[in-house]
Amino acid sequence: MNLPRFEFAGFKVSPLGIGTVKWGRTEGLKHNHFTLPDDRTIIQLLEIALEAGINVLDTAAAYGVSEKRIGQLIQPFRGQFYIFTKAGEIFENGKSRWDFSKAGIRASVEKSLSDLKVETLDLLTLHCASNDMEALKNSPALECMAELKSAGKVRNIGVSSTTVEGGLYALPFVDSIMIAWNPGFTDHQPVLEKAAELKKGIMIKKALNSGNMEQRVHTAKHGLKSAFGLPGKPLVLVGTINPNHLRENIRTAEEYFKIG
Ligand code: NAP
Repeated sequence: MNLPRFEFAGFKVSPLGIGTVKWGRTEGLKHNHFTLPDDRTIIQLLEIALEAGINVLDTAAAYGVSEKRIGQLIQPFRGQFYIFTKAGEIFENGKSRWDFSKAGIRASVEKSLSDLKVETLDLLTLHCASNDMEALKNSPALECMAELKSAGKVRNIGVSSTTVEGGLYALPFVDSIMIAWNPGFTDHQPVLEKAAELKKGIMIKKALNSGNMEQRVHTAKHGLKSAFGLPGKPLVLVGTINPNHLRENIRTAEEYFKIG
């Protein structure tokens, strides 16, 4: 049996989605050392996900070659996944920089459309830096994203916030919010609760503390089950390049949602 589907900003999504930063980039991340997965592994991950009823992939313009690889490797599975991406952060020569100008966001969206080989982006999330209020209040990024939605370039818009103030500020302007949460890091709980009250789509990032579980999360099962139980039926995005980890996370989700 498949995982359930929940309402998420007008889409019906599985409670578990796949984060794909490790599909495209190895530098500048908090994860333990790894090498990029080969194409066969990514196809295997996509097949395992589909079989379980997972229908969301989360990527970003700043995830190296992640969008390009998804655009190529998803072709046999076209239309079966929502592909959520982000703009605002640019990762070049091993370093991040941010461009929240209208021209910068539009150029990023055009590149994402081309790399992902789609005509419309399902969800465009603003990829904020640590001072998210700066981009949210003092740049035209939110306005530009609303214009892109009106123009039909993107179906939904969201913000990946980095502060509680930023998350709360962004909520009225967006369809969804992405926040970091795990059992050892619950600072963004007020954003989560407000988002649930406003019936916004909620995405959880770092539910496994980017794999550094001994520090905060104890086990993947514990991190995942805790995140599934949060208010607002969140979409929990877990990054992985390991088919066995994906199978384990699916088993945890099936156990939590009492499938099978
Ligand atoms: P995460 O999902 O908490 O952790 C991913 C790490 O956990 C990977 O290194 C993965 O290693 C490991 N893992 C996964 N399943 C496991 C299992 N069953 N047992 C043991 N280890 C397991 O953190 P994240 O990758 O930082 O975040 C998830 C996604 O959220 C990202 O991919 C991205 O899509 C999004 N995100 C967005 C932002 C932003 O917008 N600023 C920031 C961070 C993350 P293996 O690959 O070996 O499985």
